[in-house]
Parts: sequence; C-alpha cells; structure tokens
Amino acid sequence: MTNPESRESLCLHFLWDWLKEQQSLLRSPFFPVLFSLTVYLSCCLPYACLDLLCSRLHVCFIFPISVLYWYWKPVFFPPLAPDMLSVVRDILACLLLFDMQYFFWHLLHHKVTWLYNSFHKDVWELLSLSLFSTLNPALLGCHPLTEMLFFITNIYLSVEAHSGYEFPWSPRRLVPFGLYGGAHHHDLHHLRFKVNYAPYFTHWDRLFGTLLGPDTKRASSNTNTFKRM
Ligand SMILES: [Zn+2]
Ligand SMILES: [Zn+2]
Repeated sequence: MTNPESRESLCLHFLWDWLKEQQSLLRSPFFPVLFSLTVYLSCCLPYACLDLLCSRLHVCFIFPISVLYWYWKPVFFPPLAPDMLSVVRDILACLLLFDMQYFFWHLLHHKVTWLYNSFHKDVWELLSLSLFSTLNPALLGCHPLTEMLFFITNIYLSVEAHSGYEFPWSPRRLVPFGLYGGAHHHDLHHLRFKVNYAPYFTHWDRLFGTLLGPDTKRASSNTNTFKRM
C-alpha cells in the first residue's frame, strides 16, 4: 500500500535531491545575492508586464506602427558606412526637426478644442507623429544606418520622457543650460496640460512662454509620482 504522505512529499524529495546536487552553488558567497534578486525580480516581473500592457500608447500604437514601417520600408545598402560626425549631426538635426513639428502640432491640438477632443492622444495624432519621425531622415537625406540609429534614439527618448524616472545619466542632466526637458518636464505636461508642449527640448516652450521647469514652485506640488535617482 502506498503511503499518501510519502506520495505527497515525492515532488519535495525530487526538489531536495536536485538542490543537494547544487550544493556548490548554494554554498557560494554569490548565492544570497543571486537568490534574493531572482526571487524579488520574478515577483516584480508580472507587475512590470502589466504596466507595459497598460501603456496603450506605446504597446498598441507606436509598436505596431514601427513594425509596419520597417516591414514596408524599401531597403538599400550604400557601399560605405557614414562617418561618425555626419551620423551625430544628422541625428541631432532629425531630433530638432521632430521636436519642432511635435511642438507646433501639439500646441495646435491644445488651442483648437475640436482638434483636442477629436484627436489628442488618439491614434490619428500618433500616426501623424510617427509620420514626422519617419519622414525626417528621408527629408534630410540620411544614410540608412543613421536612420536606424535615429529610430533607436527617438524611441529611447520617447520612452524615457514617459518613464517617470530621472537618473544621473538621463539626457536632462547630460545636456547643459536646461536645453533638454526630460521625464519630469513631460510629466508636468500630463499634469498641467497647458505647459511643456515640446517632447524633448525646451527652446520652443521657452520662446512661446509655455515652459514650466521641474524646479519652479508651481511645478513642485502634485508631482509625487516622479522619481529622481
Ligand atoms: Zn506624453
Ligand atoms: Zn497634450
């Protein structure tokens, strides 16, 4: 006759035997850190995935549009790679052009009530913004490699602006003279609506009097969700 208790503990025996075989790892000084970190991150992972799925803007619109663009885009391979200086210059030019287009397009949506109610945060607005970002490298005659690097930079900056975090290596801290807005700057747009229309840089908002810096008194309240590291 089989003892039910022993049957129940059978899988524990398997687990324990397997763990005993890993003794060298378990006795290693790295094990406490590795074990704690793995357990902690595994528990956080489902929530991180939920956060990602809830971010409809990026997952439902920007991601599929990006996939379709790279799927249909004609592929050509110039024999030579671009030089580093022209890559940096062209990426900066594409970013500044995109920043200007986004600023005026965004401002227009906030000034015209009908546009704001019909299109702001809607798929059509995102489509037009994706159009700007994909047209700019073609308009400026960029090398395909530069175009790919601009795509990576633009997506990184867009995700960073919506991340709610600011690290010592965040663009706002790397670009001098307050020329770059960053995550807190963009958070303030979502909180106050009538400020910080540009996605990345600050010069257009400064020129039009719509800039709200993260350190101003008006900005410091009601921004508890922002995390500065
Ligand atoms: Zn936003
Ligand atoms: Zn807006």
